[in-house]
Amino acid sequence: MATQRLELLDNTRPNLRAAGYLRVSTEDQLLGHGLAYTERKVKDYASRKGWGYVQTFADEGVSGTLPAEERPDLSRLIEHVHRTPRPFDVVAVVEGRQIGRNGRAFWPWVWRLEDLGVFTAITSLQIDNTTERGRDAMREEADYAEREWNRLRRRLQGGIQEAAELGGYPGGTIPFGWHAPKLEKGKLTRYEIHIKEAACIRRAAELYLFERSWERTARMLNAEGHRTRGDALWTRKNLKMRMLGHAIQSNEVIWRGKGALVDHAGEPVFGRQVVIKLPVILDADTARALRETPARKTWRQPERFRVYSLTGLMTSQCGRRYSGTNRRDDYYDYVCSGRSLPFGERCKCRPVPAEDTENRVWSEVRQLVTDADRMESMARDWLSAAPEVDYASRIDDLTQQIEQQEAAIAASTAVAAKMAAARGLLGQDAERAVEKTTTPLFRELEDLEKLRREAQGWLRDRQEAAERLETLRAMADKARSRLGSLGPAEQAEMLSLFGVRVRVLEPPASRRGVPCDLRAWFVEHKRDVPVLSDAAWVRAWPILCVPQLTEEHGRLLLGAMLYKAANGGRWVDIGPRFGARGGRLQVAAHRWRKSGRWDRVMEALRGLPAVPVWSGPPARLEITVRPLGEFSSEDGECSGCSWGSRCRSRCARRSPAVRSRPISAAPWRRSS
Ligand SMILES: [Zn+2]
Ligand SMILES: [Zn+2]
Repeated sequence: MATQRLELLDNTRPNLRAAGYLRVSTEDQLLGHGLAYTERKVKDYASRKGWGYVQTFADEGVSGTLPAEERPDLSRLIEHVHRTPRPFDVVAVVEGRQIGRNGRAFWPWVWRLEDLGVFTAITSLQIDNTTERGRDAMREEADYAEREWNRLRRRLQGGIQEAAELGGYPGGTIPFGWHAPKLEKGKLTRYEIHIKEAACIRRAAELYLFERSWERTARMLNAEGHRTRGDALWTRKNLKMRMLGHAIQSNEVIWRGKGALVDHAGEPVFGRQVVIKLPVILDADTARALRETPARKTWRQPERFRVYSLTGLMTSQCGRRYSGTNRRDDYYDYVCSGRSLPFGERCKCRPVPAEDTENRVWSEVRQLVTDADRMESMARDWLSAAPEVDYASRIDDLTQQIEQQEAAIAASTAVAAKMAAARGLLGQDAERAVEKTTTPLFRELEDLEKLRREAQGWLRDRQEAAERLETLRAMADKARSRLGSLGPAEQAEMLSLFGVRVRVLEPPASRRGVPCDLRAWFVEHKRDVPVLSDAAWVRAWPILCVPQLTEEHGRLLLGAMLYKAANGGRWVDIGPRFGARGGRLQVAAHRWRKSGRWDRVMEALRGLPAVPVWSGPPARLEITVRPLGEFSSEDGECSGCSWGSRCRSRCARRSPAVRSRPISAAPWRRSS
């Protein structure tokens, strides 16, 4: 113990083993301060101190704000620190900001390493905590950094407060209608009226007070070329929110109003609340009129009248039907009727996006039915498949037999009653005797009646089928000429005429996560995703080749990126398939995209075999077209098989159908 204490008091402490941690941001790389440059700095420091140099950990192209666990090499370093025996004693960094962008992330990190028995060296400050003296210097440095950070924050907040109190622009979001143009240095930036936005506000007020409908006002604004600040179209919702919002209504901004950080007494932490007056856009009377004029109740939004052509034609996985609904502003869906059952009985069927599904079904149905010859021959086959029987005379024949049977029953009943009386039977006994005689006769009568009903059913079906064949011919003609130009209402009529049924085999997954920018690249450039064959790699490698990257690893990285673009998924899930960490993949993808290497590689792979870009989770559908309709026999008895009333398909009476292979509807998309 004594010797160690002595050692700590000494100025230097040799025989330690150092590891370097380097973080090189993209900007550093551009300035020429790449990995080699920073690595030399930490190595120099180690050798001056007489330490051995063990290993370098390096994260390239990574921002200082990225948390430690998302930096591959920093997390690897921390994992090494926990190993026994420890592989090194000192971690050398060039600057504290290599760990975290502001000092506040760095110092706790240093003290944590110290607790674990690992020292830290900061080469730019020429200090390390391997000795007592170095340790003091480091504490001082940390205090200084803390003071500096506080001072900076106070100065910043003070400046903002002052600006706000003088009626200037303190920063932050500027309400629609105003802007804060930057003047020359030293002059206070103030809110000013934004000419174009203010014109839009005044026009909106005028339109609303005349139309008394935010919906209509929004549409007229759009038609006149007005847009939101984000260049989006006005909607009832966003327009109403702006026009009745605090800024337009009272021409003021409350600085540190709602959402400001407050202390336990409810006072803002960083300074008091200030009301900043804005130059007036709408006078108080107009603003009040907007507030107090209710929207006309009678105004119908045309969107409500959207025709859902598949309502009632689409079966859900739980066996119920889908019907159209408008749940949110921009989405039209079909929702399973089982969703509106009381809680507990409610089904879990996910909604299906309306527009894409309708388009998909319609184009499939078009393909199936425009083949008019096929339709007609199908109908003929079905008609000729039915047995050639003269139904009319068969029905007459059966009617005659039934009448005879009824007469026979009447006669037998009378005879049986007489005989019972002769035998002295009374009451129930007499009834039973009569029943015994007549029951077999009644059974025969029932059979005859059943046969007649069946024959009548067949006759009706035949007549209907003949009529339908005519209709079908006419429809096929119409389909050939103008199926492409039918409106939604006509489409709906056609779908029901063609006996279209849609079975949802698998609804689309709900939308989740952030959009993938690799996929976005392919969509934007209208390119398919190249297959990473040997031939493709031969072209790609010269572009991607850098000293730190082995060819094998490079190919894995590119393969993983192309896989993601073609198949979707998250980096964290895709990484392991390619033996890489998701974070590392993401970093590499970002770097390649930013450096332009990605574009060059894709240019080099142009013309090679490619697959379509991932287009989101599909809804799988099966479409059945049954143009001759379904003929259900009245008593539910099947005459086409021996199952009778237990037959579930009513096989003989079912008209022929054309069924699509399972198709995938397009993914979720915003409807226009
Ligand atoms: Zn359901
Ligand atoms: Zn059957």
